[in-house]
Amino acid sequence: MATVCYQLREVTLSLEEEENGLGARVAETLGIKRTQICQWHIVRRGIDARRKGRILRVYTVQFTVDAALEITHGQLNKRLVEVEPTATIDVFTPTARAKKVVVVGMGPAGLFAALTLARCGHQVCLVERGRPVEQRVADVENFWAGGPLNPHSNVQFGEGGAGTFSDGKLTTRLKHPLTRTILETLVTFGAPEQILSEAKPHVGTDRLRCVLLNFRKELERLGVELRYTCCVTDLLGTAQHVQGVIFNHQEELPCDAVVLAVGHSARDTYAWLERRGVAMEPKPFAVGVRVEHPATLINRIQYGIERHRNLPTADYALTYNDRETGRGVYSFCMCPGGEVVQSSSEPDSVVVNGMSHYRRAGTLSNSALVVSVRREDFADDSPLAGVRFQQHWERRAFELAGRDYRAPAQNLLNFLGQKGGSVVSSCRPGVVDAPLEQTLPDFVSQGLQRALPHFNRKMRGFITSEATLVGIETRTSAPVRIVRRQDGQSATWAGLYPCGEGAGYAGGIMSAALDGIQQALAIHHCDDHSSTGD
Ligand code: FAD
Repeated sequence: MATVCYQLREVTLSLEEEENGLGARVAETLGIKRTQICQWHIVRRGIDARRKGRILRVYTVQFTVDAALEITHGQLNKRLVEVEPTATIDVFTPTARAKKVVVVGMGPAGLFAALTLARCGHQVCLVERGRPVEQRVADVENFWAGGPLNPHSNVQFGEGGAGTFSDGKLTTRLKHPLTRTILETLVTFGAPEQILSEAKPHVGTDRLRCVLLNFRKELERLGVELRYTCCVTDLLGTAQHVQGVIFNHQEELPCDAVVLAVGHSARDTYAWLERRGVAMEPKPFAVGVRVEHPATLINRIQYGIERHRNLPTADYALTYNDRETGRGVYSFCMCPGGEVVQSSSEPDSVVVNGMSHYRRAGTLSNSALVVSVRREDFADDSPLAGVRFQQHWERRAFELAGRDYRAPAQNLLNFLGQKGGSVVSSCRPGVVDAPLEQTLPDFVSQGLQRALPHFNRKMRGFITSEATLVGIETRTSAPVRIVRRQDGQSATWAGLYPCGEGAGYAGGIMSAALDGIQQALAIHHCDDHSSTGD
């Protein structure tokens, strides 16, 4: 039977209705019989909580019907569209001339670059300064329990990259068709299938760790050589052509091209890249704090109810334009039912971020509240001035909280100069009640103080003695851009492909993964790199 495929948008269910009734709801909306729908599946899920007493779950449903069946678009306007059945894009065309490529960094950018290159038939060595995810988890848990910081195996460094201890949010503003390929790849490796249809997909740190194990197996199956505790400390060759890398200051690894996907915290790497004349420039980012509220309080504000089996733990996104300074103040990387994580990668510094498990069932919800930082805020114009700016404030936070890696924290009301209560935080190894103004640039603390009343107007109850601010969040994005040419290569070193968030071309898991694929394809299609053939 010939069939036609459609998508119907804005199909709604109440909180009490089950998703398996969606086929019937589609048929009812179209005025056809349920049995006339051959197959259906959800392509997008979202929540409409604008009316607190009547929260709706909103879906886009894709379905097929007999081509002979007439469906009248009439009143459905743009809600009903005929579509081609979803097809996976195949960008992995095998090569006749295998190149030897070293990929540096096992974050999303490096992993997807290595996978793409291997699928195209290249000879790939993927190196990572940190440890395999199993050992890395143990190192991080030990640090959070009060143990020493391992500068090579921590929340920023190790297999999986910076997002391993995260909420695993996979939202992106990018409309690139390869984003679907990335999500499908993650599902193949064990991510929940819902990420293919949710309006705001997330994997959770627990599921992400399993995905990484399967990712590793697939890379090994494709013949990728994986090297851990292998920190790249220099380049081989000349600016005319990179010929390989040196790792751990001694071993040489020759190759035809290098993908440099080192993330935004590889400060030692930025330093030697600058010395080797790799073109870089300072880049703006944002600095602020994490705010933690009881998850039920945020649910009440957003949904009007504390919880429901068919409602996810509520999130939010807030923005404010500070007219006094012209700076943006905004919430960032919200983690519903999650925890604030101590994310230092350098001794004597405190930096926080957020993570959640897939179920987002923790009792607190947290989000970054940050203020934009400009290049003029740095002490000078040099490429690494933004790195030094971050370091300065991270060390202040370390000093303020007693020099033992606990984070400085303050009741939100106290931060606003009102009488508040104590601090309640999920952050391990703990927090110290301290005046956060002392560990933030003035324009940041004042920007936050002006923004909070505005946020409270958007979300009544946001300002409360039940909220705690935890400092400080500085690694919102890279403070540097490693300048690239149109073809993806470094502006000054041929054969070097700066990639992902650390290079300043991505912000988040999805965009880093996409940049990894695109840089891999740039190498695949480049005729300049000679093959070593060995
Ligand atoms: P990274 O993931 O940083 O990976 C770089 C890798 O390179 C690291 O493993 C590092 O050890 C390695 N490396 C560095 N230098 C060297 C060297 N010289 N030699 C060898 N290896 C080296 N983003 C989201 O989209 N959603 C989220 O929910 C989210 N939550 C986050 C929570 C936390 C706690 C953190 C820290 C980040 C979060 N992010 C989130 C941001 C996201 O993790 C990053 O955008 C993303 O990981 C960037 O990917 P990348 O591959 O470019 O770099």
